[in-house]
Amino acid sequence: MKTPDTKQTVPPPNFIRSIVAQDMKTDKYDGRVVTRFPPEPNGYLHIGHAKSICLNFGIAAEHKGGICNLRFDDTDPSKEEMEYVESIKSDVRWLGFDWEDRQFFASDYFEELYHYAVQLIKAGKAYVDSLSAEEIRKYRGTLTEPGRESPYHDRSIDENLDLFSRMRAGEFNDGAHVLRAKIDMASGNMLMRDPTLYRIRHVSHYRTGDKWCIYPMYDFTHCLSDSIEGITHSICTLEFEINRQLYDWVLDELKVYHPQQIEFARLNLTYTVLSKRKLIELVERGHVTGWDDPRMPTISGLRRRGYTPASIRNFCERIGVAKRDSMVDVALLEYSVREDLNKHAPRVMGVLRPLKVVIDNYPEGKVEELDAENNPEDSSAGKRKILFSRVLYIEKEDFMEDPPKKFFRLTPGREVRLKHAYYIKCSDIVKDEKTGEVIEVHCTYDPKTRGGWSEDGRKVRGTLHWVSAGHALKAEVRLYDHLFAQENPSETKTGADFKSFLNPNSLERLTSCLVEPSLADAAPGSRYQFLRQGYFCVDSKDSSATALVFNRTVTLRDTWAKIQRAREK
Ligand code: ATP
Ligand code: MG
Repeated sequence: MKTPDTKQTVPPPNFIRSIVAQDMKTDKYDGRVVTRFPPEPNGYLHIGHAKSICLNFGIAAEHKGGICNLRFDDTDPSKEEMEYVESIKSDVRWLGFDWEDRQFFASDYFEELYHYAVQLIKAGKAYVDSLSAEEIRKYRGTLTEPGRESPYHDRSIDENLDLFSRMRAGEFNDGAHVLRAKIDMASGNMLMRDPTLYRIRHVSHYRTGDKWCIYPMYDFTHCLSDSIEGITHSICTLEFEINRQLYDWVLDELKVYHPQQIEFARLNLTYTVLSKRKLIELVERGHVTGWDDPRMPTISGLRRRGYTPASIRNFCERIGVAKRDSMVDVALLEYSVREDLNKHAPRVMGVLRPLKVVIDNYPEGKVEELDAENNPEDSSAGKRKILFSRVLYIEKEDFMEDPPKKFFRLTPGREVRLKHAYYIKCSDIVKDEKTGEVIEVHCTYDPKTRGGWSEDGRKVRGTLHWVSAGHALKAEVRLYDHLFAQENPSETKTGADFKSFLNPNSLERLTSCLVEPSLADAAPGSRYQFLRQGYFCVDSKDSSATALVFNRTVTLRDTWAKIQRAREK
């Protein structure tokens, strides 16, 4: 597992930054830096994509005049949709990046790509093959044996041109022919054994409709799209390393502008799957409520969960960029949002599992306004008024009748502090006759401890959060745990399906929580620290003025710092 430095503030050097800096020095691209983020609109973006977005937009922004394009790589008509295009745009924007007027679609290049294909045919570098998919596979050979040339390999240029134009015209069924590059059936790189450039697919495309029934393959489309857009550094993930030879071949044979492909290691996170195919499965089979389920590692899920754009950008910076695959601890992602919210989220009081407390010596009907600091980490955050009265609620787990030794919270005869309010002392308890459960705690308060500090300097060990019964608002709170119970759910050694590792306890809904009245106007998406309980965000979908719903973003417990400390020992 990686152990990134969590204290870095200046962009740390990485091998891609070095390559770009070197190219600027040698003036390789006339001082230009042009990158692109090229998602396929076949799903929602996830935290892995955020790494690529931060890298591509980040590198462009670090150089004067540098730009990053948003390009939809949409050559597979069967899986792509406008809904995905829209979600991708809103996610990239939310992360804080701007492609200005440079929104491109590979599908806008279809005509141009077709002409490039014709050019390859004319140069004797591509041919129409009429073998079936199955036969093509057989002819390809294996890693240890060379392939064989297709019987259609030596078709004349004229015949190829004729067939290719008739493929476009819709004269043939799916699979009847393909266009292949003429390279080397004995190449050590299987991808170079006459790769397919075009296939026939009588499927409507979400943008081009039925205009096309032949579609270009990724390896033909991507390099040429990069070339058309004048990309300088085409940054992609490691699995495309093997495709680089073909990327270069196509551009060299066509003698067009030639960007440089650079590969980096994709992000893998513990307890998480980062593959659109798997995420789609979770959505479609109802294991989650949608792409934006707060347990999903999608940008929209993280947003709904309460993550901030800055926390995700900081995370992406911290994990760095390497040339070797590794697994990043999800605790580092949680650390990043905790760090950001600690500085910016106002602190309020919310009781998740309420237990009634009656202050017997507090006048009935009296209501007091007390001062509460909004965020001690932020001097500009100011104060607010909170209401105190005779009947309050505290957290069930903050009271124990027979406590173990180190329990410093409320127990019979013990005095504790109510945050921002008074010292109270437990004098009596009321139990449910049937279950024996404590349902009410009676206390006395010391009027000389207003604000939570004793005039005589008397100390207490425990400080509890609370709400006033007559003023608190009802709320639903959703607590989350990892979506998967296994550290690496994608590991296939055991042959088990990744879904078998789903954590059955990833969501806990608490429907009778009480929060302080200042949250009445909390806007959807706004974030708070509930004292002692963690960071919470008003759910953007299910919360309303009459039925507040909060998602817990993270607990306060910093597992990442703990891991770091343990490592340092
Ligand atoms: P998935 O494997 O999740 O389906 P993908 O690679 O098919 O992802 P694309 O839409 O093609 O998804 O990805 C757009 C860009 O994001 C590509 O450049 C891809 O390399 C990058 N990317 C995808 N997943 C990750 C990841 N886990 N870490 C870093 N970059 C990623
Ligand atoms: Mg892809």
